[in-house]
Amino acid sequence: GSIAKATKDFVPSNSRVLMLLGQLERLNREAMLADAEIGRQITAKILHLIQTQEKTRKEIMSKGSSGMEVILATLEVTGYLYICGSCVNDRCVCVPGGGRRVGVFVSKGGTGILLQLVLSGSKESPPSEELMLQLHSLLAKVGPKDRKFGVKARLNGALNVTVNLLKQNLQNHKLLLPCLQVLRVYSSNSVNAVSLGKNGVLELMFKIIGPYSKKNTSLLKVSLDTLGALLKSKTNARRAVDRAHVPVLLYIYQDWHRNDTRHRHMLIRKGVLGCLKNITNIKLGRKAFIDADGMRILYNTSTECLPVRTLDPLINTSSLIMRKCFPKNRLPLPTIKSVFHHQLPHVPAGGPVAQLYNQPLGVDDVVDESDDNDDVETENDTENEEEDKDHHARNDDIETDINKLRPKETHSRPFEELKIYERFFLELSEDFQSGVTATPAAPKSQRPIIVPTAQALPPKYPTAAPLQEECHLAKGEQPHPEASPLAPAPTPAPVHTLDTINITKDHDGCCDHSQVRPQPGLEQELVQGMERMALEGTGPQGGAGGGGGGVNSHYRQPPLLAGGVAARQGGGAEETLAEEWAEEEGGEGAVLEVPDTALLLPLHDPDLYVEMVKSTRSVPQYSEVAYPDYFGHVAPTFREHILERVYGVQRTKIFQDIERLIHPNDILDKVVYDLDIQSCPVIDDGESLKFNSQFESGNLRKAIQARKFEYDLVLNSDINSNHYHQWFYFEVSGMRVGAPYRFNIINCEKSNSQFNYGMQVLMYSVQEAISGRPRWVRTGTDICYYKNHFSRSSIAAGGQKGKSYYTMTFSMTFNHKDDVCYFAYHYPYTYSTLKMHLQKLEALRTPQIYMRQDILCETLGGNSCPLLTITAMPESTSNDQICQFRNRPLVFLSSRVHPGETNASWVMKGTLEFLMGSSPLAHSLREAYIFKIVPMLNPDGVVNGNHRCSLSGEDLNRQWQSPSPELHPTIYHTKSLLQYLAAIQRAPLVFCDYHGHSRKKNVFMYGCSLKETVWQTNISATSCELHEDLGYRTLPKILSQTAPAFSMASCSFVVERSKEATARVVVWREIGVQRSYTMESTLCGCDQGKYKGLQIGTRELEEMGAQFCVALLRLKRLTSPLELRNHAHLLDVESDLIETRCKVSSLLEDEPQMIDWLNRNTHTRWLAVN
Ligand SMILES: [Zn+2]
Repeated sequence: GSIAKATKDFVPSNSRVLMLLGQLERLNREAMLADAEIGRQITAKILHLIQTQEKTRKEIMSKGSSGMEVILATLEVTGYLYICGSCVNDRCVCVPGGGRRVGVFVSKGGTGILLQLVLSGSKESPPSEELMLQLHSLLAKVGPKDRKFGVKARLNGALNVTVNLLKQNLQNHKLLLPCLQVLRVYSSNSVNAVSLGKNGVLELMFKIIGPYSKKNTSLLKVSLDTLGALLKSKTNARRAVDRAHVPVLLYIYQDWHRNDTRHRHMLIRKGVLGCLKNITNIKLGRKAFIDADGMRILYNTSTECLPVRTLDPLINTSSLIMRKCFPKNRLPLPTIKSVFHHQLPHVPAGGPVAQLYNQPLGVDDVVDESDDNDDVETENDTENEEEDKDHHARNDDIETDINKLRPKETHSRPFEELKIYERFFLELSEDFQSGVTATPAAPKSQRPIIVPTAQALPPKYPTAAPLQEECHLAKGEQPHPEASPLAPAPTPAPVHTLDTINITKDHDGCCDHSQVRPQPGLEQELVQGMERMALEGTGPQGGAGGGGGGVNSHYRQPPLLAGGVAARQGGGAEETLAEEWAEEEGGEGAVLEVPDTALLLPLHDPDLYVEMVKSTRSVPQYSEVAYPDYFGHVAPTFREHILERVYGVQRTKIFQDIERLIHPNDILDKVVYDLDIQSCPVIDDGESLKFNSQFESGNLRKAIQARKFEYDLVLNSDINSNHYHQWFYFEVSGMRVGAPYRFNIINCEKSNSQFNYGMQVLMYSVQEAISGRPRWVRTGTDICYYKNHFSRSSIAAGGQKGKSYYTMTFSMTFNHKDDVCYFAYHYPYTYSTLKMHLQKLEALRTPQIYMRQDILCETLGGNSCPLLTITAMPESTSNDQICQFRNRPLVFLSSRVHPGETNASWVMKGTLEFLMGSSPLAHSLREAYIFKIVPMLNPDGVVNGNHRCSLSGEDLNRQWQSPSPELHPTIYHTKSLLQYLAAIQRAPLVFCDYHGHSRKKNVFMYGCSLKETVWQTNISATSCELHEDLGYRTLPKILSQTAPAFSMASCSFVVERSKEATARVVVWREIGVQRSYTMESTLCGCDQGKYKGLQIGTRELEEMGAQFCVALLRLKRLTSPLELRNHAHLLDVESDLIETRCKVSSLLEDEPQMIDWLNRNTHTRWLAVN
């Protein structure tokens, strides 16, 4: 039996306690209960031993010992509570802090036995007070360790015994305390809480808790905790509201606040707040709190607590309650739909635009008072929590369908359809030479290789050619079949656009150009009206001379800067803004020069910029140019550190927000800027700032002056949508020097932001610029990001009810009088800037550089989407050279599908500048690859100040699986280019789409790996063969060694379900590009490497773009034929290479000149295709 076991297990075996336990067990077994005295003697002896000998205690508790079982059995059978209870109580079983011992007790069924004893004890009349006291003391200790304690107590009936005991002994404090402690444990079970509430326990608690008193504070504390636990039940919370307990709790809180001057009873005060916190989880509770003047009470008490740091928990809980109870409000907008609407060529039923615009008016803007259950708003939200959440989300998101991880073989489009894309790949063309030699005037010998333009290229596929021709003619333009192939350098072919070519459609449809022209909607007309008004207005801002014309005298500026440069489309009047201004100012020393940045910014030219703006089409038909885009940005040379978060900033800001409710008379509530109102008010009374956002990439919908130096700002939704507020770019003027301005962007949507972790906004001061410092600088203090009281419609929150918006707040003082300043989420990079840069880059072309700019297609908004081809000119016309030229592996890059991720454009600028550079590295790179680059996949989004979407109201980077040629032309045609390449067996070696990341630091890559995805899931590894080349890791690994901002640790190669329609995943799966990446650049800064602790700037971003190129050179070496044949060595070679950290220049010395193997291979494939 167990005594034998006990004997065997005990060391030493002849222990006296064992003998006693043996006797006890025999007594139990033989049911010699009658002789209680013997049992009492034995247990007393055991108790004595336990109390006096540490060794004995250990023996009883040791693993495998049955000592505890014997004692419990005795307890159960005999009810020798006194002895056994003491045994448990007196540090034998339940040594405070000795969790394991309690655990042993619980695991052997101890709590059940105790509860049973409570029940049987209660049947005596009257129950033995001593017995109940003992039992409850024990239960209070063991209960919290038993997860099923609440359920056990309820099922066995002990719950009611304890409650009755309490009711009958309210004055018996000795018994009350352990009973309350047990009740507190019972209450943590939600079913118990409801049942206890019905049983009148709430009222019972309110009989115990009360105003300040030095007596019985421990009773009070336990009662408050119990009450707090009970109030988590909504039924109980409602009951408490109905019985008017909210004002009582507030009164009690104030009383303790006033009297507990030495803060000895903070836990009691916190307990009261805990009750309020739970009651206010229900709507009725929040109303009762407001009605009882709870806001003012908690605000005042908290303000008084502020100087005492140890009272922070009280302030934080108060703040939490106040924020919850702050009446929910709708945004101060007529509708949350974007101010601007763009008529789509067709609106797919069920698509986001149909959903949004088919709703009855106002449905999407209803204030939702539902309870917001996501408890993100804990008292101290840390970055780690956020990242944990991300991590979980990601785990849920991993693709587990193995079929979706395998290459998709079905080519949806026949090659005949893809043939038209051939003309974007002249460098690959079989006709490359014949195109040159066909012209008699071009002798074959000694002449530089002439690359024919698109116009010059004779149609290779007769089936496709007429189609192009007709489309072409339909546009009312002359065909250029005889364009000279003798041009000294390739020229862009701007007339060829693919936007309307849709071979799968009717012939008619393809030439109907009217359908792609933007149709001005009502909103657009409205905006046009606004604009006219603005232009007809007086003053320098509107005085654009009846259309302004091109500003060609940008050397002179008025001293009083009053807004952006006018750049009216179409030109007209010859007199310029500056001349007008000069007249107005009487020319008295009022002429200032714009910064001369030609040397520092070789790709920037203000005149050219204005020219570019003229051909940029925006939905609001912007006519102004923002100064920063006009002057350009010269990256500052000083370091911009990631800000240390100041303690208590968020709390201070929230308290300032709450003050609005408490002192409503202090609030101005003056609208100073509003795109929704036809006559956008420009109040110029010297009391308010002036705002403007009506320029390319601008985003600010409304500005409301809340207090003298405080403004609430509302961002505009992406066009044809009602959300995605994150990007902002606006102008401010009329500031007072040195005044402490606070700006609040009140309709942010993400649950957290890098603004909480050291990121600052960007500001551009025109006064600084004309003083020779034209630059964006990181600025703002007291920056934080928190949930506010503006409710988000469930439609805009993806169906979730009760969501709120977030406030991003920053403070700043201005240094210059009469300044015009611009604020932006990140360094702006407009579509016109891109066009200017491309034109400047083209001018850098040398005879050694093959660079061609095509227009891939037109966007919905009527802007053209540039496609660049960059490689090296063949050195001669020899067959070998031409062959090498044509067979270079392709690298396909794209960027800026998300307009708010301007950093991606700066990285792209770095890449392009490097590729067009004159360094030997750049030359080698051009000789190594053919680069195909779509530098801006979403020009419309960029132009119109969107954050995420195109004019279709959709995220273009979720359309890659089946892009629509009408709605997503840039994606459709970019994918077609890749499909064409795959069809001719020339799929790129590397595909990379540049992005920006708003929540992570550093630069990193996402790639696609079947293996790494499968490893993360439960798919059995044997269920699929996993043959995978590890080559996808090479490029990021090289980057982590060469690019200071790049972090390998942040990279991921897992395929997520939510990303299955992104460029990266589709190009990997459908085009079969193993090295298919998204490169994410932080918007904030770095926490590793050379730039650790610094915010990222354009210099670092451009460097990243250049380093990407350098890494491609290394990659080339690693993918040379030798390694390609022998994959097993790839990683070894690579790590060797990286470990030695050889200099880039040394790499080049042994760069393989030609990839014969590749050449032959692709050549034969090419022939096969033909
Ligand atoms: Zn992105």
